[in-house]
Amino acid sequence: MLKSKVALVTGASSGLGRAVAVAYARAGAKVVISDLDAKTGAETQALIAAEGGDARFIAADVSKAEDCRKLVEQTVAHYGRLDIACNNAGIGGDMAPTADYPVAGWDKVIAVNLSGVFYCMKYEIPALLKGGGGVIVNMASILGAVGMAATPAYSAAKHGVLGLTKAAALEYGAQGLRINAVGPGFISTPMISHLEQDPAANQQLVSLHPIGRLGRPEEVAELVLWLSSPAASFVTGSYYPVDGGYLAR
Ligand code: NAP
Repeated sequence: MLKSKVALVTGASSGLGRAVAVAYARAGAKVVISDLDAKTGAETQALIAAEGGDARFIAADVSKAEDCRKLVEQTVAHYGRLDIACNNAGIGGDMAPTADYPVAGWDKVIAVNLSGVFYCMKYEIPALLKGGGGVIVNMASILGAVGMAATPAYSAAKHGVLGLTKAAALEYGAQGLRINAVGPGFISTPMISHLEQDPAANQQLVSLHPIGRLGRPEEVAELVLWLSSPAASFVTGSYYPVDGGYLAR
């Protein structure tokens, strides 16, 4: 489905990013795995290599514009082109009501979860257009569509990702570049393992999902894969929840 395509995934050492990278590779794409941590990045690379896929790790901190510029430059230098980008790297950040939210915590979440997506898009777009277009999938959240108490920075950043997605989709749609966002509900990854380990918190989270459980990374990757494929050729500027019914209430 993605044969001869080159895909870039940020935050691909763990969780959703790892599942997306593996799904892209299974679909035939060559995959650049990017993250902060080379050791866990190598684990994702090994998973892909074990299935006969082609992947390479490139370190980048998405909160640094220059890292994002170099990430795209090195991707194109290694694989010759860029066709698909999944801007997935993100952090949960502090939890506190808005008036109590630490300024440094706000700055950090906005830097990674919102500015990081902007920086990646800023440098990915020219590379994608050079190849005649392509696809960007931004990892938002259900908290890109609704708020949640004690997550002002995370909710604001993810709402911002939706705005960025829509603005850029309008700008580049006619040039063959499709840009969409996905909104996972709570998915079982290291990001939320501290909540899952607390039985009361876990039960509370599960109760927010009418399907009666949390999601699995592979269930998000399936949606990202579809959006990244020619099957979604008329889909751009949209936001797709994958949330076990969270947003239906
Ligand atoms: P995860 O398992 O913690 O994976 C996130 C990855 O991003 C980690 O490898 C992390 O590295 C990396 N990362 C953090 N800051 C970075 C930076 N500045 N530059 C580059 N990489 C960075 O979390 P996840 O659950 O897979 O989350 C992936 C995305 O899905 C995030 O955008 C998150 O907001 C979103 N999301 C998750 C859920 C959920 O319930 N899990 C729900 C909705 C949306 P370190 O481990 O070294 O920090």
